[in-house]
Amino acid sequence: MKDTLPIQYDYSLRANNTFGIDAKAHAYLPVDSVEMLESVRRDASLRALPRMVLGGGSNIVLTRDFPGIVLHMCGKGIEVVGHDMNATHVRAAAGENWHGFVQWTLQNGLNGLENLSLIPGSVGAAPIQNIGAYGVEIKDCFHELTAFDLESGRTFTIDKAGCAFGYRDSIFKRQLHDRAVILDVTFALPKQWRPNLQYADVVQEIDARKIATPTARDISDAVIAIRTRKLPDPAVIGNAGSFFKNPIVSAAQRDALLERYPRMVSYAQSDESCKLAAGWLIDQCGWKGRSLGRAGVYEKQALVLVNRGGASGREVERLASAIQADVKAKFGVMLEPEPVFV
Ligand SMILES: Cc1cc2nc3c(=O)[nH]c(=O)nc-3n(C[C@H](O)[C@H](O)[C@H](O)COP(=O)(O)OP(=O)(O)OC[C@H]3O[C@@H](n4cnc5c(N)ncnc54)[C@H](O)[C@@H]3O)c2cc1C
Repeated sequence: MKDTLPIQYDYSLRANNTFGIDAKAHAYLPVDSVEMLESVRRDASLRALPRMVLGGGSNIVLTRDFPGIVLHMCGKGIEVVGHDMNATHVRAAAGENWHGFVQWTLQNGLNGLENLSLIPGSVGAAPIQNIGAYGVEIKDCFHELTAFDLESGRTFTIDKAGCAFGYRDSIFKRQLHDRAVILDVTFALPKQWRPNLQYADVVQEIDARKIATPTARDISDAVIAIRTRKLPDPAVIGNAGSFFKNPIVSAAQRDALLERYPRMVSYAQSDESCKLAAGWLIDQCGWKGRSLGRAGVYEKQALVLVNRGGASGREVERLASAIQADVKAKFGVMLEPEPVFV
């Protein structure tokens, strides 16, 4: 059975992760059908291997050669699958490029995902950490998804409540971690659209373009311009975007910190807790622009760790640990990494 699958052995993943880390997979399989996953599950020798599901590799740090099989989700396809009173339902296969999908929706007059333009990676990975940017998360336009259960061999559909979305979090990082392979995602895009202009950066960019009544296309263009200015292009400088989540602290802890650091950046949350800006905390510890070995902190944004050339995953891990230790010592706050360490 294994012989019919296009598996490659001792496969370099360097081009498959945006950090550009040169690690190898024992076995690598580009997957474009559920039958291929079924075959992997049925084959005793493949089933015994550790597994890693891979999309665009924009949220992983490869700390070693992977001793198992990498299942690279490559299936393509986008279609409108239905409507209800309020929304148009659009389904996209896991292997579609996220930004390409967002652009497809806009070209087809479907709005709602524009604030999430230019986020790297695949459609299939977007629900894993409930990707978010500029005041929108995918949960805001999510309808349902289909996934294959590597343990039971069942294909199942899960709705928004079932995904238990949170800040950079979902059930796929918890109970269904290492088990559910997302095959496709269906979005509910609103028929009555209103621009989301919560973020000052987006408003400023729209104003600078002298646009009084922005369309979804205008917002997408503004977000693309902002992101291009602020974030390093992984094709030029290896990185995984924001490296740490913004920590959530209690109002009491925030107040205590504000007494010592009156200029500290914080955002009140709906449940009385408070989100701190991880980038600001890192910057205050003097890390912006610094390096440890061949891994470093981006000059323009302290939240982004970069590969200065030839860095190993271990070097990135060492840098992340050093930053965590300094932030903990200065502010008493433990930063949690956003990418998955493999
Ligand atoms: C420059 C840059 C900017 C970024 N900006 C943002 C941002 O603004 N907001 C944000 O939220 N994120 C951002 N990210 C992080 C990243 O783009 C997202 O997390 C993205 O969804 C990862 O997609 P991917 O296909 O590359 O996933 P991968 O890195 O391939 O995988 C990430 C995790 O998802 C799992 N996975 C992947 N595909 C599937 C699947 N089909 N089924 C089950 N599990 C799967 C993997 O096993 C892994 O655990 C940024 C990254 C970069 C490099």
